[in-house]
Amino acid sequence: MKILEDRIRQDGTILPGNVLKVDNFLNHQVDPQLMDQLGTEFARQFADAGITKVLTVESSGIAPAVMTALHLGVPMIFARKHKSLTLTDHLYTAKVYSYTKQVNNDISIDRRFLDPNDKVLIIDDFLANGQAVQGLFDIAQDAQIEVAGVGVVIEKRFQKGHQLVVDAGVPLVALASIAAFENGTVTFAQD
Ligand code: 5GP
Repeated sequence: MKILEDRIRQDGTILPGNVLKVDNFLNHQVDPQLMDQLGTEFARQFADAGITKVLTVESSGIAPAVMTALHLGVPMIFARKHKSLTLTDHLYTAKVYSYTKQVNNDISIDRRFLDPNDKVLIIDDFLANGQAVQGLFDIAQDAQIEVAGVGVVIEKRFQKGHQLVVDAGVPLVALASIAAFENGTVTFAQD
């Protein structure tokens, strides 16, 4: 999506460890108009997939996920992060290793919000090694619901997450696909 690539070129900074900082429009300060455009595009691409709910993980997936859900006309659920969980009977849970924070989190969704008839779309801000998406795949499997697609605002194509989603046989849409960080600049996959 050209508008997103332009914004990444303009406002993104590359940090050590292949981390792209985009906290002035995506995951700290949020540009609502851009989020609306991203949500519109995800909704367009998954319009015929029969989605009943959008799933994400707090907190940085929430902005694009809620806009996507708005345009699909379905609810959005964000998995909550916890350091460790006890008393999990009423929850679906999974373990997720955080790429940026380098800590393990448990993530959870209340069982009341997922139904075996659901068909979900997973939305997140970044796809790096695919740990967050895998955690949501695990919850979906546990809840016996179908994952009809994964949409990420930015994928770092050179890391493992892209292949993980492809290998799972789930349709993947990345609105910006980064092939490499070279000499402090971003190279997009189609460049
Ligand atoms: P994964 O679980 O795919 O390894 O990493 C995805 C999660 O880590 C995203 O939800 C995002 O919060 C964070 N993340 C991964 N790579 C980046 C990055 O380059 N920049 C930022 N800001 N967050 C990232």
